[in-house]
This record gives sequence, structure tokens and C-alpha cells, in this order.
Amino acid sequence: MPQDEEIELSGLQFENLLNKEQKEAFNYLLNHTVFCPSCSNICPDGVMDYKTVLTDADEVLMKGKCAKCGSGVTRLMLIEEDIAFADRVKAIRSNR
Ligand SMILES: [Zn+2]
Repeated sequence: MPQDEEIELSGLQFENLLNKEQKEAFNYLLNHTVFCPSCSNICPDGVMDYKTVLTDADEVLMKGKCAKCGSGVTRLMLIEEDIAFADRVKAIRSNR
């Protein structure tokens, strides 16, 4: 079964995938841990135009742009997963 492909998450899918704590973790990582190679620093003005991808390993990958210089930035969002998360991943994968 080719169920391990990368899926670009819609806004709604992303909303449904993460619970409140996981969203807080995501936002923290987004604002404090995304490194911009051009700025040689954590994105000073944050990240813009980002989208999220469910990877083949069921991890959340963020792809966006440094809000200061516009360079592409990506970061694997290390979110503590729970059993409900696995169920929600399954739901997203089966609804395609
Ligand atoms: Zn930058």
C-alpha cells in the first residue's frame, strides 16, 4: 500500500491534526527555532508563507520563507505525538 507518501496538508487538515498542546509546540518551534541560512540566524522576523507537509514518516515538516530576507526555510517540527495523533494521521491518509 502506497500510504507513506508525503502529503501537503490543507489548513483544515493541519488544524485537525494537531491538538492544542501540539499547536503551541508548533508555534514555538516556528517562532524560535527556524534557522535561515541567508541571515545565518534564527529567522529574525519569523517565518511567512509557510505550509505544512506530513512526511512519509508521519512527521510534520514546515516549509516557508524567512520573513526578513525571503529565503526558503524548512524545519522538521518535533512534536510529541500521542495515540490520537496517529489516528488523525490515519484519517488524513484514508481521506484522499
Ligand atoms: Zn533570512
